[in-house]
Formats: sequence, structure tokens, C-alpha cells
Amino acid sequence: TATMRAAGLSLGAASAIFLLAALYFMQRHIVRPVRRLTGKIQSMQETGDLALDLGEHGNDEVGMLASEFGELANRLTKAHGELETARDEALELARAKSEFLARMSHEIRTPMNGVLGMTELLRNTRLKPRQERFVETIYESAENLLRIINDILDFSKMEAGKLQLEDVDIDLRAIVEETVESLADQAHQKDLELNAVVPPELTTRVCSDPLRLRQVLTNLVANAIKFTDDGEIIVRLAEEQAEDEQVRITFSVEDTGIGISEENQSLIFDSFTQEDGTTTRRFGGTGLGLAISSQIVELLGGQLAVASEPGVGSKFYFTLSLEPAQSAPPDGASEPSGVAGKNFLVVDDNATNREILENQLQSWFATVDSANNAENALARLATATAEDSLYDLVILDMHMPRTDGLQLARAIRAEPALKDL
Ligand code: ADP
Repeated sequence: TATMRAAGLSLGAASAIFLLAALYFMQRHIVRPVRRLTGKIQSMQETGDLALDLGEHGNDEVGMLASEFGELANRLTKAHGELETARDEALELARAKSEFLARMSHEIRTPMNGVLGMTELLRNTRLKPRQERFVETIYESAENLLRIINDILDFSKMEAGKLQLEDVDIDLRAIVEETVESLADQAHQKDLELNAVVPPELTTRVCSDPLRLRQVLTNLVANAIKFTDDGEIIVRLAEEQAEDEQVRITFSVEDTGIGISEENQSLIFDSFTQEDGTTTRRFGGTGLGLAISSQIVELLGGQLAVASEPGVGSKFYFTLSLEPAQSAPPDGASEPSGVAGKNFLVVDDNATNREILENQLQSWFATVDSANNAENALARLATATAEDSLYDLVILDMHMPRTDGLQLARAIRAEPALKDL
């Protein structure tokens, strides 16, 4: 048994030595080269530089792996270089194209203004009814064409990175009111209510680009009118909490129109895209309006977004952080004299209108009640007379269902107790 034990021991020693040798071999020829290779790959990933020297490697499997990998890296480096050249060429081409477009649009605008100006003069001369119709059509077509050209000009300017923004003192209330005023006719032709809500306490004097801001709002309101058949459109400004000196304002344009399906909501901000072919045919348009608007909003420091439900309506909105205006407000701003302390009654069937008038009058230190139709207004006036708390002024909406503003005014005038109103 002693001999057997000795044989076992030497067998154990021999296998231990063999194991060590195998480990050494693996360490030297497999583990180390693989580790070196992984190290190289890692540094390639970190530096992004594919042209790394993989160093010496043997002819075994690991060596072949390393050389295959080196070959792959070389080919990738070459392809990468080719791609970069192609990208630079494409960018340069796109820039040149945009620049050409910008220049051409400018060239087109000059004669277009000639056409519009002359047509306008022609419109004011003595014309037969048939000729008048022709001139009217020329004028409208020229205006449409100019609008499209302006869109393309803006778009290409933006693509070429050449749109310069102004940064001057502006009054947000004035900008919103001007926008709404300029589109009021269009809205009323479709029997739509178009309202602006700018709370009296909102900081309206800020720094921004008045033209571009008006352009975005005009575009959103024009779309809202275009895609709404009945109901109302509200342009709303709201002041948000700001952490620093800046003024944070959320602008929104809400309509009660056809709405936009969820899948199309992500597409409409892309250039040249319209919700679908049928919409285009029904409503016309270049599909550039929202693309331009959202790029302008981005340049102004915000992001144009949409919330919408088909058949219910859409709301387009964005928030801007604006610097407060540098200069003091002009003297005698917008406060009319003689309104403070007076008692008002506002009569309007539209809730938004009532809210606007109430807010506006209260900001001028007047007391305001309101009624949503003529019957309620007369009842309120009668109560006030009975309680001897007379109103000084009534503000009437003209278009109200059942009894309109004129009829109500006549009823009021017919009442002797209200002769001082
Ligand atoms: P276009 O000049 O053709 O109107 P826009 O970029 O302004 O182009 O609008 C793109 C598309 O987005 C429109 O064709 C329409 O389908 C959809 N859209 C925009 N605004 C509204 C809205 N207020 N209600 C419903 N759909 C709208």
C-alpha cells in the first residue's frame, strides 16, 4: 500500500504541474491577447477612432480574431470617411438650394408687389360690374400667391439658417389685439366668435420679436378659422410662475373645429405635410404654415405643441421665457378716464366675451355684473331700480339669440326709471 500511496502522490504532483503549465499557456496565449483586444475595442468605443493599431498578434485563433477585427475596423474607417464626405456634400447642396430659393423668392416678390399695387389702383377706377369681378379675382389670386411666396421665402431662410430675430420692447396685449382684429372679418364671415383673453394683471411689456410673434399667432388663428365650421376661437395668454427675472407666458389658440387625429398630430409640424390629401383639396394651403411657426417658436425659445380631439377641436400652445421690457411704458397708456367707480352691466350670450369685459372693466376699477341674455338683463335692471342701486352703464352684445342688442336697447330706453342709464 505504501508503493501505491507513493505512486498516487507522484501522479498528483504530475497533474498539478500539468495544470499549472496549461494555465500558464492559456494566460499567455489566450487570456492576455483577448484582454489586449478588448482593451483596444474599449478605447475605440471611447475615442470613436477606428484607426487603432492592434499591435502584433500570432497565427492562432486569437491572433486571427484580432487581425479580422483590425480588417473590419479599417473598412469601417474608410466607409465612415466616405459617409462624411457625402454628408458634407449633401449639406452644402441643401444650403445652396435654400439660398437659391431665398434669392428667387425675393426676385418674385418685387413684381408681385407691382401686380398687387396696380390692381389696387385699377380697383379704384370706374369699372363695369363684370370688370370689377375680374379685377377682384386678380387681386385675390395675387394676394394668395404672395402669401405662398412669403411662406417659401421664410422657410428657405430658416433652412439656410438666415432668419434673424429682433429683440425689442413690445406690448403683448397690443400684438394679440392686432392679430385678432386683422382676422375678425374672416371669422365673422363664417359666423365664428373670435376672442382674445389677456388677463389684466399679466405682464405684457416684454422683449421679443413682434413681427415673428404676430406671424405665428396669425398663422394659428387663420388655421383655427379655416378648420372650424361653428363655435369659437380663443387666443389666450397666461402668465406662469418664473424662477428668475424673466416673464413666462403661455400662448394658446383654441378652436371648436374638426380636430386632428392622434397619428396626424405628430406629422403636421413637418414641412410640406398636410393631414391628408382630402384636407388639402378641401382647404388648400402649402402645408408650410405650421412648420414655419414651430421653427419660429423654437427660435423664440419655446416649443409649439398641439392637443386635439377629432370632432371636438384643437388647441395649439407654446410657452416663452421673455425678458421684461427695458423702457418704461408710454404715458397715459390704456386707462380711460371716468370708468373707475362706475357700475357696469355686461350683457352677452358668449361666456368668453363676458369674462373679457368683466376683467377689463375691473382692471379699470369699475364694478361689474353680467347677464347672459336680454331677459336676465331686464330682470337685473328692475331689481337694481327697486333696490335703488342704479347701474351707470350697460354694455350690450348685438348678436344674441331671441332678443338682440337693439331690441334690448329699445326696451331699456322705454323704461322711464332707467332714463339716466
Ligand atoms: P396649410 O398651410 O396647408 O394649412 P399648415 O402647416 O398650417 O398648412 O397645417 C398643416 C395641416 O395641419 C393642415 O392641412 C390641417 O390638416 C392641420 N391643421 C392645422 N391647424 C388645424 C386646426 N386648427 N384644426 C384642424 N386641423 C388643423
